[in-house]
Amino acid sequence: MSEGITEIKSSWAAVQDHTRHFSDFTFVYPVISRRSKGLSIGVNLNPDKVCNFDCIYCEVDRRIPGAVTEVDLNQMKDELTAMIRFAKDGGLAKEPKFDEVPWLTREVKDIAFSGDGEPTMIHNFAECVQTVVDVKQSEDLGATEIVLITDAAGLDKADVKRGLELMDAHEGEVWGKLDAGTEDYFKAVNRTNVKFQRILDNLLATAKTRAIIIQSLFLKVHGEAMSDAELEAYCERLNELTAGGGQIREVHLYTVARPTPEAFATKLELSELESMAATVRERTGLTVAVFP
Ligand code: SF4
Repeated sequence: MSEGITEIKSSWAAVQDHTRHFSDFTFVYPVISRRSKGLSIGVNLNPDKVCNFDCIYCEVDRRIPGAVTEVDLNQMKDELTAMIRFAKDGGLAKEPKFDEVPWLTREVKDIAFSGDGEPTMIHNFAECVQTVVDVKQSEDLGATEIVLITDAAGLDKADVKRGLELMDAHEGEVWGKLDAGTEDYFKAVNRTNVKFQRILDNLLATAKTRAIIIQSLFLKVHGEAMSDAELEAYCERLNELTAGGGQIREVHLYTVARPTPEAFATKLELSELESMAATVRERTGLTVAVFP
């Protein structure tokens, strides 16, 4: 991939002359996402693979260094514009895998800050949001959401808060990670120095200003699913968020999709996930969607 990066000066030009494939893009990638209910265009703000979590289920291979260390906003803008036009023009519908669901490929459901690390760790998050807003407007994507998929550790940063306000004005949505109910389980699954309370405080402060999605990955650790007591604690944390004035639009429960680098982190069966979702619904009254 690095060869392509040094060669590509303008990704937009590359798409126009069709000599380069979008898989050569550095910051932008298309996915058909069940959680987005269609085409989601991902914007990777962490090509350096930096994250403040080290989740046991993370699929990012950090033994191989990231392709580039900085986000080039002009290049990101070019790639995003190119990808949107490629999707709208029907080019994406002809690509392998996307050709299996061509009816889902022309409408951009969302543009999602996600990728190989934690998006809020970038120093100029608000500027990145503004760039996406500019492209969304120039490409006439009024209904397309701007989604931030985050571990919530950086939601209290001033620059991130500015970015969230921009998102609020342009169909923004925050998907905040919450995989645990207790500090111990949080540390075991998310392997971070960040305090659990900080995550909860950030989720609450963010959800007091706009409705958020809570996204929770549940899995088996050494063959064991989360204990009943941990699930109970998780529900209590959700209840504390709503009791504190936080608005939770929906809870997304999902599990490991592909084999993880840590062999002891494995997926739950659909029946197990459904059963946990039923408990969360019963204890919290929230809408819970399951994505096996
Ligand atoms: S927060 Fe996301 S990118 Fe970071 S370690 Fe966890 S799964 Fe990987």
